[in-house]
Amino acid sequence: MALTSELIKQRAAELGADLCGIADIRHFGDCPPQRDPRQVLPDATYVIGFGFRVPRALYEQMARGKQYYNYTSLGVKYIDEEFVQMFLLRIAAMIENEGYDACVQRNTSNIRIQGDKTQNPELFDTYELKYAEAVAPGKPVPDIILDFPKAAQACGLGSISMKGNVLTPRFGPRVRFAFIITDAPLETDPPFEGNLCDGCGECVKACPGHAIREDGTVNTWNCSICYRGGFRGSPYMTDDVLRDVPDRDAILDGKKEFDAESARALYRQLDFLPYSINGYVGCLCGKACDTACYRHLERIGAISGRPDREGGCVPGEE
Ligand code: SF4
Ligand code: SF4
Repeated sequence: MALTSELIKQRAAELGADLCGIADIRHFGDCPPQRDPRQVLPDATYVIGFGFRVPRALYEQMARGKQYYNYTSLGVKYIDEEFVQMFLLRIAAMIENEGYDACVQRNTSNIRIQGDKTQNPELFDTYELKYAEAVAPGKPVPDIILDFPKAAQACGLGSISMKGNVLTPRFGPRVRFAFIITDAPLETDPPFEGNLCDGCGECVKACPGHAIREDGTVNTWNCSICYRGGFRGSPYMTDDVLRDVPDRDAILDGKKEFDAESARALYRQLDFLPYSINGYVGCLCGKACDTACYRHLERIGAISGRPDREGGCVPGEE
């Protein structure tokens, strides 16, 4: 049976993807070389995007102050490190069986391309590939890592918000992504038109560590401190924590500006929950930015949210 977009989408749904869209490689024309799927597969014709919902309840339990570890373990680590990997390998085998290439692109959460100094707050630490060199002049420096938000938008899965994450019409920001670069001949989907983000600023207000600026830029080092519970009102914060740190009050109030060195110096004092595989840390900020965003989008009718429950998520609901 010939490989078609319909067959891939049907199989993706059977294997657990909630979203699937296919982008023409021409939509990646302005990518820098270290983000360019054509540098991974020179004959690439399409990028197939897959979205995997993170269950609402994992966020809601954090918002209620009841459970935190399940989000990290199931909603982050399991999806990215286990579920998606098996999923990608099986879809890749389906494409390869028809004689085409399938370059699988998982979320390489703990690696940063050379020059990217940001931190993924979900991990104990991230590694910048600063010692890598191009194999020849004009070639990109390895590893090439796709720009996931841009790829998701190109595949028609959602729009990029002011703070750089992807908002989808069905799940808002509560989705994780994976991609396959292929040379198979497929039918494409149009890129996502418009923007679900209306710049409301609810995510800015919701972050207990003030890691998101008014213009949407995120200090990922501040985010990493807040994410692991370094803020006033954090569920595991007692008077003893950071007791000997001179600027403790400024840290807890989200007024200290962190960089790589100052953030890393504090991480071990914020070990409130055990790490998961690959060093995923417990999410003690509750991903308040995403929950505020989800509720806002649901309120204004921009996402389908809970079609079965009028009013959707109620803050503080028991
Ligand atoms: S809460 Fe969501 S919609 Fe509002 S500004 Fe932030 S990302 Fe955009
Ligand atoms: S709410 Fe959490 S994930 Fe969102 S910006 Fe703040 S610290 Fe980072």
